[in-house]
Amino acid sequence: MIRKHYENVKNTIGDHVQLCIVTKRRSTEEILSYYEAGERMFAENHAQQLKARAAELPSDIRWQFIGHLQRNKVKDIIRLVDCIQSLDNLPLAQVIEKEAAKAERIVDVLCEFHLADEDTAKTGLNKEEAVPFIKEVLKLEHIRVRGIMVMGPHTDDEERIREVFNEAHELFMNLQKEFGNEIIHTLSMGMSSDYAIAVQCGSTLVRIGTYLFEE
Ligand SMILES: *Cc1c(COP(=O)(O)O)cnc(C)c1O
Repeated sequence: MIRKHYENVKNTIGDHVQLCIVTKRRSTEEILSYYEAGERMFAENHAQQLKARAAELPSDIRWQFIGHLQRNKVKDIIRLVDCIQSLDNLPLAQVIEKEAAKAERIVDVLCEFHLADEDTAKTGLNKEEAVPFIKEVLKLEHIRVRGIMVMGPHTDDEERIREVFNEAHELFMNLQKEFGNEIIHTLSMGMSSDYAIAVQCGSTLVRIGTYLFEE
């Protein structure tokens, strides 16, 4: 644990923004140091990694899946995840529904949007798809929609990052108006390089890896 960085993050996000610690490529000991500090929300972006981690770490961790999820991997993680933050297509939603039903559980999801790098983004929904997509997912009985996830643009340009995060927050507010704030509850936005901006723009959950683990 890099205590100074951890304190910076905690001070910046305050009491109302959730911290999700991204554990990809970190050792069990590194992860446990944050668990022992009281953190319970951790994230992986590969199904096999999440499965291996969940097997060796305490069972009260609320695992978040944040990567591109292949349909044939859903069954490997369905009993282990608290939330799949990267739902971006209906065939995947249908597989999650089927596997969650088999596992007799209801799984939380965030719908992932790409608002930045629109021409090159390989994953994520676009804004125009938001309402019809969420309406379809709401029909599935073993999935609980909890909000949206957005990635910032790959740039150091603060103004550009702020622009994308403001756009994401506007989408979040519009979806709250449409579906209510029980369903559109979480705006997952902000990573090591841009979490402070994300919080200023209304993020309710930041996903941070590198900064918490590296000098
Ligand atoms: C890796 C990853 C993060 C964390 O990125 P850092 O720069 O290490 O903080 C957040 N979100 C997603 C989707 C990621 O894949």
